[in-house]
Amino acid sequence: MKRVLRKQEEVHTGDLILVNREYGYREQETRLAAVGRDKNAEILFDYRAGILLNRLMAEINGWEQIVPVSGWRSLQEQKQIWADSLAENGSEFTLKYVAVPGHSEHQTGLAIDLGLKQAEIDFIRPDFPYEGICQTFREKAAAYGFVERYPAGRELVTRIGHEPWHFRYVGVPHAAIMTEKGLVLEEYIAFLRDYPYGNKPYMAQTPCGEIAVSFVKAEGAVTELKIDDTHPYAISGNNVDGFILTEWR
Ligand SMILES: [Zn+2]
Repeated sequence: MKRVLRKQEEVHTGDLILVNREYGYREQETRLAAVGRDKNAEILFDYRAGILLNRLMAEINGWEQIVPVSGWRSLQEQKQIWADSLAENGSEFTLKYVAVPGHSEHQTGLAIDLGLKQAEIDFIRPDFPYEGICQTFREKAAAYGFVERYPAGRELVTRIGHEPWHFRYVGVPHAAIMTEKGLVLEEYIAFLRDYPYGNKPYMAQTPCGEIAVSFVKAEGAVTELKIDDTHPYAISGNNVDGFILTEWR
């Protein structure tokens, strides 16, 4: 067993951080890369998530008909989008579709808006219908670690309107568990509290075997975990009060 330490501030980093109206994003360094076919368009995305997005697109020939519309945004850009939308669309629309600056998933580099390629693309609400190539993308998304983040009917939980175009990278096996159980990220973070570290983890059956997922509550300045490091594992903060430990068994 290996002793692994996580500092309190690391609660706010990782692929599973919950960023929403309640929990803001702590600015941090993120490695980004351009995505999409037109590299000059400068849509930046987390480089690891971008590799997986490109693989998914290669499998379905997706970049033929789909374009990235918005990826990573700086706090400054989010402020500008917020201000522009308020002026153009008013506060009701803006609150529904634009995250408050400091609280946008786009600032993490882990969120991407995708649109069907067409002459006119709406920057805030691109077309990404539940049919054709877009639906094919949606059906494959979880296997590559992506979830549709703001589904219809969950507006009271996410506090963002239905956004068929906005996808979030959470990684595997989390995307598959969320999709299978119909949980949005707010609910998934809460769900994992029933699987505290050291007790019975949640066991996910995946194409690459069993994966154990558990919640580790942050304790003081440094949280200590004992991990069987003969197998792969990953630790992400939840941006609330602890960590999600993922162990390949
Ligand atoms: Zn978005």
